[in-house]
Amino acid sequence: MDFTIKTYKKLLQSFLQNGYSLIPYKEYCENKPEGKFLILRHDVDEIANNALKMAQIEYNLGVKATYYFRIVKQSNKPEIIKKIADLGHEIGYHYEDLAFAKGDLQLAKKTFEKNLAYFRTYYPVKTVCMHGSSTSKYDNRDFWKSFQLSDFGLIGEPYLTTDFKLIFYFTDTGYAWDGGKYAVRDVVKNHFGLTFHSSKEIITSVNKGEFPEHSLMLAHTLWSSTITQWTLLHLREFLRNNLKYMAQRNQFLKKIYGTMVKAYWKK
Ligand SMILES: [Zn+2]
Repeated sequence: MDFTIKTYKKLLQSFLQNGYSLIPYKEYCENKPEGKFLILRHDVDEIANNALKMAQIEYNLGVKATYYFRIVKQSNKPEIIKKIADLGHEIGYHYEDLAFAKGDLQLAKKTFEKNLAYFRTYYPVKTVCMHGSSTSKYDNRDFWKSFQLSDFGLIGEPYLTTDFKLIFYFTDTGYAWDGGKYAVRDVVKNHFGLTFHSSKEIITSVNKGEFPEHSLMLAHTLWSSTITQWTLLHLREFLRNNLKYMAQRNQFLKKIYGTMVKAYWKK
């Protein structure tokens, strides 16, 4: 079974056994390691409990990753953030201020500062990462057309400060490593001409020495440790992906989908 906590461990082990350094995003910004590396990025959109399970596996393997938390209640779980920080991982802010402020830049700046200060009570946050906010017409990254990372004491934002020509980007959006068509904003141009469907395919490629030497993996926190959660989440993702996909092509569905998402994420 793919996208389980067990598979996640196997995936990380394959990189470690083949000489890759597994690093948090901050380390990529500060001092890129010599040789092969894989940046571990997690967007904690929801189910923060699973994030802790992944963080423990990484800790047991002796590696550090980056966890980007949102301010909404499904993600922002103080005791989980604290535990993950205690395991030595990097904590970052998964911001969506411009979408929440409906494009009002000054309001977005105010809430961004406030939320960043909040996450800094857990960890000295140095990097932030935008949340896709697929149903909003505002792109959270547009915030950076008016402000600079250094204005907030930040050094990195994966969408702005990663050289994707040199770094191979792969993500588990929609429970597949090639589910990119379901993503609305968190899309990165693939300069490598490589696609993988299952984790097994990635492991095989890594073991054969064919996988890119420098890469960034975005793994969400939908990797389950129980069969019930695995089944429910797969079913939900299947429905959500198809609805999201259709909503991008149909105005009426787009409206319904937007209302549903708003209701679900209500703060
Ligand atoms: Zn997100």
